[in-house]
Amino acid sequence: MERRIVVPDFAVTEQRGGTFLLQVGQMSEEMKAMRVVIVGGGFAAVQFAKNLRRKLDASKCQILLFNRENHMVFHPLLADVAGASINAEAAVAPLRQMLPEVECRTEGVQRIDISASEIAFDDANGALARLPYDHVVIACGAESNLGIIPGMTEHAFPFKVMRDALDLRQHIVRQMENAEASSDPERRRWYLSFIIVGAGFSGAEVAGEINELVRSSTRFYRNFRKEDITVTLVHSQDQILPEVAPNLRQFAQKRMQKAGITMLMNTRAVAATHEGIQLQDGRMLGGGTVVCTIGTSTSPIVQRLDVPKEKGRIRTVPDMRIEGQTNAWAIGDCALIVNAFDSKPSPPTAQFAERQGRQAALNLVRILRGEPTQPFRFKALGQLCSIGGYEAVAEMLGMRISGFPAWFIWRAVYLFKLPTWSRRIKVALDWAWDVLFPRDLSFLNTDAAQQLTHAYYRPGDFIHRRGESARVFSIIEEGEVEVVQTTEEDPETKVIAILGKGDFFGEEALVANRPHETSIRARTVVRLAQIGSARFSEMANSFPPIRDLIAKAVTRHSGDFWRHLPLAKPLLEGETIASLMDPLPAKLLSKETPFAEAVRTLTQSATGQLLVLDEKQQLWATLDRDDLYHIIARIAVTSKDAPVDFAKRKLGDLLYGDPVYVALEDSALTASATMLDHAISWLPVVRSKNDPRPVGCLRGDRISNRIIERLGHVEMDHSRAAS
Ligand SMILES: Cc1cc2nc3c(=O)[nH]c(=O)nc-3n(C[C@H](O)[C@H](O)[C@H](O)COP(=O)(O)OP(=O)(O)OC[C@H]3O[C@@H](n4cnc5c(N)ncnc54)[C@H](O)[C@@H]3O)c2cc1C
Repeated sequence: MERRIVVPDFAVTEQRGGTFLLQVGQMSEEMKAMRVVIVGGGFAAVQFAKNLRRKLDASKCQILLFNRENHMVFHPLLADVAGASINAEAAVAPLRQMLPEVECRTEGVQRIDISASEIAFDDANGALARLPYDHVVIACGAESNLGIIPGMTEHAFPFKVMRDALDLRQHIVRQMENAEASSDPERRRWYLSFIIVGAGFSGAEVAGEINELVRSSTRFYRNFRKEDITVTLVHSQDQILPEVAPNLRQFAQKRMQKAGITMLMNTRAVAATHEGIQLQDGRMLGGGTVVCTIGTSTSPIVQRLDVPKEKGRIRTVPDMRIEGQTNAWAIGDCALIVNAFDSKPSPPTAQFAERQGRQAALNLVRILRGEPTQPFRFKALGQLCSIGGYEAVAEMLGMRISGFPAWFIWRAVYLFKLPTWSRRIKVALDWAWDVLFPRDLSFLNTDAAQQLTHAYYRPGDFIHRRGESARVFSIIEEGEVEVVQTTEEDPETKVIAILGKGDFFGEEALVANRPHETSIRARTVVRLAQIGSARFSEMANSFPPIRDLIAKAVTRHSGDFWRHLPLAKPLLEGETIASLMDPLPAKLLSKETPFAEAVRTLTQSATGQLLVLDEKQQLWATLDRDDLYHIIARIAVTSKDAPVDFAKRKLGDLLYGDPVYVALEDSALTASATMLDHAISWLPVVRSKNDPRPVGCLRGDRISNRIIERLGHVEMDHSRAAS
């Protein structure tokens, strides 16, 4: 934009990196309107835009606010959305209605180039557009990061944006419907067990709301009672709500316990699975719903920014400009701002974000007027936290209030933050309705059979058991699983094959539309991608390569082989791997070995089977003559390297790690089934499942030989018995 306008009050006093610093009281001069770009549309950004606009009209300053959504989210009300006590619209406010004199863009900013004073964003056509600015204000908050605890990404609900609250609400109601339909009391209680990890503002609020929703809804269901419900708050510290005053915290804790919420204090979750969460002391806490309110990460745009940061937050100088910058500001949760009131870093709360937005806008105006800026200083007005059941705890202007009056004040405060009176009245009526009438229990059925999901399992966890109906097609993204067989006559579990990274299972039962014939158990930590049955059938029917792959996999499976050779199976079950194994190859390779050297070693090897180790001397990959051809073919297609450079490349860059292997404790039956299932002729052998250092190799022909030898003995024994 190149608007030429007359600025009556200001004159340029300094021009730096495209920045105009203006001084008040000078003669008017023809110049561009200054452009301020705000990245983000939360508490901090909205207050900044509002206050700047109040001080500078559109002729002097163009304010552009970029936010990924076209609305601002009132995070403190998300728990009420999840608990079905308010509608989603009551917890959001459209930005352009809140800020009618600001140019609001619903676009994600991709990059901020501080040195060139410009931003890059995806425009409406998907192209990357660039826009220069005079000042930029970074107010993009923080992102939730469930990756800090294994399995949380796959099995827990995050709780940060509106989509999270809506998904959680759907899921809670679906769990109640599942409990109603379940004839197994244990499973019913599992459906009705809700675990919330983290007891800060968001954890306490969402635990209170889930508890209220589920308990107050029991009267509409016949198959369960309040006693079947458990809501557990798991917190690593000894008190909930670390952000609020100690006596309010204790009050909140007591009220929540009285309402039926179990508090597990000084307890950490270390993993999450489909069945619940594993605690630090090894206990497993079962529950069909896990909400993870801990774990935040820096927003990607801040990660890419080359400015000083501390614990992922942008470091600022006292007036809230980024350290070392004259025209770049950071406010809200993404910034580390020291409060001059108590010399402590500001907490990541809405109250502080708003106040920072306001004071940063005033500082920008001060700079334009040539006045000194002021450090951020704020004495918190008080604290408010809803704890469910129309109760809250509040500390305001030195007074401590709790229960319904606190809840009423809490709602009133947020009501007055909403734009326009029409919206406030609509939302107030909505809230009054929800206080007087039961919560809405309708849910839009999202069909699990259509979904692609991810799952995490710990060693020993069953992924499915024999006899269960087939619901998903699973692809192993990481780790190994055991195919386990039990029969009615022989309930003892036997491992009959091992599947590794890239392998898949579940297709046989889905294709034949029958229950699983074998169980699948995680042998190591396992991560799976899972495709729902309906989506799988759709893909299998409409995409011929997948259909062919499945047909091959189904006929290849070892189960059929043993069906045709029933005598061999018990013979191999009793055979140890150690008795059949070849010693380790004379030379072991490493990830650092150059390709040319690996080829030479392979040429000299008697068996043509080599092992590649990682830094810990653990098995990392295998290499045989077939692999050589595949590597060369792949590189010929994808690489621009000259042949001589290619020969110097390390195995670590050319091979895929994570090979399938067997351990000394496995039986020869497991090994041969694994080879059959993978259509391979040899396997590496490692010390144990938990110690993947290689000890030898096992060839398929050695196993076949042993079967023939043993079958010969069986034949002779039979003829002796007959004579
Ligand atoms: C469930 C929950 C409950 C809470 N309860 C309370 C409470 O009771 N009291 C309290 O004081 N605080 C509470 N908080 C904390 C409070 O919500 C935050 O401190 C506050 O929202 C921070 O404001 P912000 O403006 O920095 O960021 P946000 O409000 O998070 O806004 C950031 C905005 O930037 C947008 N954005 C991010 N990256 C980009 C990009 N690249 N391009 C464009 N837009 C982008 C995001 O979409 C988002 O709209 C709660 C938080 C949560 C999650």
